[in-house]
Amino acid sequence: MMKIGVIADDLTGATDIASFLVANGLPTVQMNGVPVEDAPAACEAVVIGLKTRSCPAPDAIALSLSALSWLQEQGCRQIYFKYCSTFDSTAQGNIGPVTRALMTALDTPFTVFSPALPVNGRTVYQGYLFVMDQLLAESGMRHHPLNPMSDSYLPRLVEGQATGRCGVVSAQTLDQGAAATRAALQRLQDEGYSWAVLDALNERHLEIQGEALRDLTLVTGGSGLAIGLARQWARAGASADSAASGYPQPGRAVVLSGSCSEMTNRQVGHYAQLAPAQAVEVALCLKDREAYASELAAWALAQTSELAPIIYATASAQALKEIQAQFGAARASEAVEALFASLAVKLAEGEFRRFIVAGGETAGVVCQQLGITGFHIGPTISPGVPWVKALNQPVSLALKSGNFGDEAFFSRAQQEFPV
Ligand code: ADP
Repeated sequence: MMKIGVIADDLTGATDIASFLVANGLPTVQMNGVPVEDAPAACEAVVIGLKTRSCPAPDAIALSLSALSWLQEQGCRQIYFKYCSTFDSTAQGNIGPVTRALMTALDTPFTVFSPALPVNGRTVYQGYLFVMDQLLAESGMRHHPLNPMSDSYLPRLVEGQATGRCGVVSAQTLDQGAAATRAALQRLQDEGYSWAVLDALNERHLEIQGEALRDLTLVTGGSGLAIGLARQWARAGASADSAASGYPQPGRAVVLSGSCSEMTNRQVGHYAQLAPAQAVEVALCLKDREAYASELAAWALAQTSELAPIIYATASAQALKEIQAQFGAARASEAVEALFASLAVKLAEGEFRRFIVAGGETAGVVCQQLGITGFHIGPTISPGVPWVKALNQPVSLALKSGNFGDEAFFSRAQQEFPV
């Protein structure tokens, strides 16, 4: 029986929630885009990874509704709209409009927003979202290139994006347990609220959320709420089975890094001291991309080191600014994405079977170009970043969104999961 159907607004976000579902006992597969075929047998949750975080709202709504139809056909009893734990969206952003459209399609008058992921430092208190020890709008997210976050108070963000009123269920209420939380949600609904933001400071709060929301038709959140919901349905041995079926494919590994986040800069700096490293030159991506990709693929193939070679476009904030001033921001990033897409194909045609990819957009283009339809979810490398094995070809990937993972992520992904 299909318990939960997830609509995720980007690829690495989809992998993130899928990893928490399996780690907490719910057999799960991930599909990239709205599938044409049925879900593989034996899974009890499906995550559909879309690319709807930053596109125009009408496009995000249309794609999300088409994902919803497919999930309903699969018999999912609960729908979960997954977005980033930093609530990435602008005032014109898509979280409110997509949520509203899903509520209308499901004919449900009320749902929740629960972005917290305490294990990665994302907590919500009295409706305010924190990133580690800073309010969201005072964290690095205020400089995000696509969705700069300038408000930390979630009810205001939600009410700015869609019509309706949004209340808060506080940490104090959650401390009183699932019944008190359910009662608070009912009160808000009776008073005419469409939504409630849920506080969460720790995993216990997520468990209480899961218990209180187990029968709600629609929930929305980051991947933390999935911990609580999956535990409601947990099946003994499911995590170990999944980790085994998604265990990384034997074969050579390569690291491709197209993220410029602070964490990725640290990870690349650390890894470049341990393994052969090649920096991508944006000018060459713009000049003759195919020839340049072939040259980089040949370089990777020629390396004989124990740790995988890394090819990275990762640049510091200052260097990125200069590149963008020279070539134009959109042109430069498109050129870099296109290079990684064509490089991934050339590497897969060679001996490479394990791809460690940093960057959400970068991971998206790599998977698209390799024609990967979906994943078995394997063992977790860092919270929210598992190894995944392609459903339709002999390739494994570790897809890391910019800010995830620790400094040694790239080497740990290999050394902790030997062939
Ligand atoms: P993150 O998960 O950190 O947001 P993404 O891959 O989603 O990473 O986004 C990073 C964007 O920056 C991509 O479009 C990528 O092509 C672009 N980019 C990466 N390196 C460079 C560079 N050196 N110059 C210009 N753009 C770059």
